[in-house]
Amino acid sequence: MTTTVPKYPNDFDEEKKLSSQQLKVSDRIRDRLLSHGVSFFANDNVSEYIQPGELDELEDEVRHRFKELLKTLIIDIDNDHNTNETADRVARMYIHEIFKGRYHKQPKVTSFPNVKNLDEIYTVGPITVRSACSHHFVPIMGSCWIGIKPGSRVIGLSKFARVADWVFSRPHIQEEAVMILADEIERLCEPQGLGIIIKAEHYCMKLRGVMESQCSMVNSVVRGDFRHDLSLKQEFFALVRQQESSLLK
Ligand SMILES: [Zn+2]
Repeated sequence: MTTTVPKYPNDFDEEKKLSSQQLKVSDRIRDRLLSHGVSFFANDNVSEYIQPGELDELEDEVRHRFKELLKTLIIDIDNDHNTNETADRVARMYIHEIFKGRYHKQPKVTSFPNVKNLDEIYTVGPITVRSACSHHFVPIMGSCWIGIKPGSRVIGLSKFARVADWVFSRPHIQEEAVMILADEIERLCEPQGLGIIIKAEHYCMKLRGVMESQCSMVNSVVRGDFRHDLSLKQEFFALVRQQESSLLK
């Protein structure tokens, strides 16, 4: 039987590399945001203030910091084959996957003039939404329905899912996520009326055992004609109920 002797390389080189940079990339980006007076809350997109090449540097810095966190949690990342590359995975996942809506620009969405003056409402959904709660950084998983009374411009149906994915891929609280999504959709297609309903499960409750059973939250936002015209709002909710009978139970 062979015994593996644990190895404990120190991270001196990595520290030296980071400290030799004049400013860490996160400091440079933060300084830029501060000098423009722009907020950088967890659910803000900061892509405009990240220069070419800096995203790779940022991923590198996150990897380093996450390694430090694992070590602080007294996990032997040098010898534990399961966590050896965890910091790499998490850094990639944060920057390019689950929080890509902070660091990457909005996917390109082309809008077209509403040449036929369509003004009947339609709904899109359920769109799967995945996010992480900004209080605990654990998943929020749910579905989203979008109702539109078209205005001067229209966008393709599949684009709603892409925009929702981009907006939700940030640390959020659900109440703010729905407002941010509504702002983006209004900006893209200037509808006469807009309604959004989100039903999501919050894993911070499930995971921590705060709620024994399923814990989901439903919230909605209505704008424009959906807000002023009660019958239109009811029509939207009825259409969604048709599509997903379990939603508003
Ligand atoms: Zn939470």
